[in-house]
Amino acid sequence: MKNTSLLCAFAAFVLSAAALAQDAKNQLDAAFAAIEPKVIEWRRDIHEHPELSNREFRTAAKVAQHLEDIGLDKVETEIAHTGVVGTLRGAKPGPVVALRADMDGLPVLERTGAAFASKARGEYLGQDVPVMHACGHDNHVAMLMGAAEVLANNRDKLAGTVKFIFQPAEEGPPAGEDGGAKMMIEEGVLDNPDAPEAILGLHVWPGNAGTLIYRSGSFMAAADGLQINVVGRQTHGSSPWRGIDPIYAAAQIATAIQGIPSRHLDITKGPVVITIGSIHGGIRGNIIPDEVEMHGTIRTFDTGVREELHAKLRKTVAAVAEANGATATVTIEGYAPVTGNHPELLAKMMPTLRWAAGDVNVIEGDVITGAEDYSFYQERIPGLFLMLGVADPAVPLSERPANHSPLFNAREDALIVGVRTLVGFALDYAQAGAR
Ligand SMILES: [Zn+2]
Ligand SMILES: [Zn+2]
Repeated sequence: MKNTSLLCAFAAFVLSAAALAQDAKNQLDAAFAAIEPKVIEWRRDIHEHPELSNREFRTAAKVAQHLEDIGLDKVETEIAHTGVVGTLRGAKPGPVVALRADMDGLPVLERTGAAFASKARGEYLGQDVPVMHACGHDNHVAMLMGAAEVLANNRDKLAGTVKFIFQPAEEGPPAGEDGGAKMMIEEGVLDNPDAPEAILGLHVWPGNAGTLIYRSGSFMAAADGLQINVVGRQTHGSSPWRGIDPIYAAAQIATAIQGIPSRHLDITKGPVVITIGSIHGGIRGNIIPDEVEMHGTIRTFDTGVREELHAKLRKTVAAVAEANGATATVTIEGYAPVTGNHPELLAKMMPTLRWAAGDVNVIEGDVITGAEDYSFYQERIPGLFLMLGVADPAVPLSERPANHSPLFNAREDALIVGVRTLVGFALDYAQAGAR
């Protein structure tokens, strides 16, 4: 066989490149030990000073200062309002990869009782509200700051370029504003110069501290906001036949749309959730009102199913309204597509994930019906999105506060696993064995 020797040479090259990468990573133990207390300190500071979406001014300033201090080649600020992007060039040539952290907090009153608990307040929809890092984005920012420092101090081991993306408004920009991943992309974070060819994001969640949860393909749902306005004709509550009752029609609509997933969609392509979370109409018991407004959310895991569901929703709502003599309008506002893990990239990076967290701590998880605007990056380039467990394993699963809970907190010994994952991805992606 003529090609055998070539193949052997290639295999040897791949192996030696992988071995080199392994060596490089093992030389970083001291760097990880040194960065861990800093990451924890940054995390506590950011946790104590959370900021709402598109208002991450203090956080962005802290990040930008850090990226300048560690000598990145480029630090860009005010991207998509408060976003910060740092660029680090390795000593050797290679591909560009991106690492992403989101920075925003939520209008939640913190009840963790932590020494560094938030007392911050902000303005949301015109109201004065408490603010908390209830989704754990404080951890994401601190871990990425740590990864940037480790990589900046080890340029000699890095082939290629790393883009550190600190993104505002993952939870959604305030009404009437743009923002988030979509706007970061519109403002060019994935474009040249330094267009990344792959991206990694982490999200803390209440899994066992230090575990990395993945799922090949679709992992987190696509989310769409749903609004249905049902218009009838106002009349006296004693004589409904003199008007058109939008409450009766709305009740039928809220029920009928639940039949769409169970009777009309191919649910073998993934779960479908339709939730109506608010219904408003009427003012007192003896008046049939003119109009009812309903708000909800839709979750899907397949683009085809998502499109079909939107079409069937419009059709069903219109038909049920018409059967009642009412009219209805359906407004669907896309929040984010499906977030997942590029299967090939996941397979290639699996040894890195195992190195970062330990073999037994890299676990395949179930799909998650929550959504992430990280999916917009993945529409453009292959990416990985992993859950980092930050909960105390001694606490039963059912008792662990979920993301967005006023009690959500992270065990800080898990954060170094996140830093190792981010650093490992950047170092290994460039190596032949990982591409
Ligand atoms: Zn969240
Ligand atoms: Zn989040």
